[in-house]
Amino acid sequence: KKVEENVESLNQRVLDFNPGENEVTSFNDLPLSHPTTSGLEASHFKNLTDIQQKAVPLALKGSDLLGAAKTGSGKTLAFLVPVLENLYRRRWTELDGLGALILSPTRELAIQIFEVLRKIGRYHTFSAGLVIGGKSLQEERERLGRMNILVCTPGRMLQHMDQTAAFEIDNLQMLVLDEADRILDMGFQSTVDAIVEHLPKERQTLLFSATQTKKVSDLARLSLRDPEYVSVHEAA
Ligand code: ADP
Ligand code: MG
Repeated sequence: KKVEENVESLNQRVLDFNPGENEVTSFNDLPLSHPTTSGLEASHFKNLTDIQQKAVPLALKGSDLLGAAKTGSGKTLAFLVPVLENLYRRRWTELDGLGALILSPTRELAIQIFEVLRKIGRYHTFSAGLVIGGKSLQEERERLGRMNILVCTPGRMLQHMDQTAAFEIDNLQMLVLDEADRILDMGFQSTVDAIVEHLPKERQTLLFSATQTKKVSDLARLSLRDPEYVSVHEAA
């Protein structure tokens, strides 16, 4: 028998949750849905890393975020958990179209993100896709319209935005820019600017980077709104 979760009460728990007061060590300390909790358990994720402790509570509450932490610190879950939760709490369905867009600098990194999404999102009903080229535009295009969450590389995404007439992004709730420093180092600045131009202004944006550079803060100024800054520094 399928257990209906009361989304109203979950929304209330998120409202009542105070990132400054509540101690967050384990994922069970967070107001998370059943499907995400089960997905994290099944993937053997129990305790949050430092960047996740700082970023996830704020992102769950809807803040824009600039998160900086070195490679290997767990930035992927820091944005994937809020993506799943914030769409779930809006009762997002197939019919609502694209809810979250995740931009990654390379195909390899996009595939890694997608694999983590598949693992921790396995008990959700969202449709998720990869848009990284390698297939014909036409093939990708046919699947695009049915996706709730897309993980993509900047060039391919912009190509679709420019060429796929029926590509619906007016409902988009969340934009994630992962490895923003690498996206910029690879020369995707103007591509990302053009993508952001296509997106609705009312949205949540999470930007993650291994390093804090001038270019990253310039991108943050363009794409984020009243962001919270969270970072984890290496111990001296
Ligand atoms: P980053 O994007 O910051 O380089 P990743 O998100 O790729 O880091 O995570 C690095 C490694 O840490 C991965 O192997 C991932 O499975 C692991 N990891 C991430 N979060 C947790 C966690 N909360 N508990 C245990 N391992 C984790
Ligand atoms: Mg990463």
